[in-house]
Amino acid sequence: MFFYYILLISEQLRANEMKCPRCNEDLTVDLIKEKRYSITVNNCSKCGGAWFASGELAKIEKIVEPTFVEFYDLPSEEEQLKALFCPSCANSPLMQKEDHPRDERVVIDFCPVCKGVWLDKGELEAIQKENWVKSLGRIFKGLIGV
Ligand SMILES: [Zn+2]
Ligand SMILES: [Zn+2]
Repeated sequence: MFFYYILLISEQLRANEMKCPRCNEDLTVDLIKEKRYSITVNNCSKCGGAWFASGELAKIEKIVEPTFVEFYDLPSEEEQLKALFCPSCANSPLMQKEDHPRDERVVIDFCPVCKGVWLDKGELEAIQKENWVKSLGRIFKGLIGV
């Protein structure tokens, strides 16, 4: 499961209308509950990708505990550079590609119209690992007083 390492309560609500931009499977809606936030995410059970409506990803990046992930299973560069269309907007606009500010190996697809974000399998883990490495770096600097 995509969020297997997150200690949050996740419950699957219902199948929804959205189709996976990568493999055209129906996306399922998950609601992730945390003390301060409730985050809606649409998952593809086939490719493991996830769609976050505008603002949902920013919330999850704030609340997820830094987790040690040994390695992650990102799609190939070729896969990541494939054109994808927004699963949420009615006229399916072409999504734009952007390197994630925290990790240039992670290519994020985002919709210029609704500002939703598509993450492929492994990309959220990659972002979180980057986060973890940076926090650790800060702690070490604090310890040796750089
Ligand atoms: Zn998919
Ligand atoms: Zn859109």
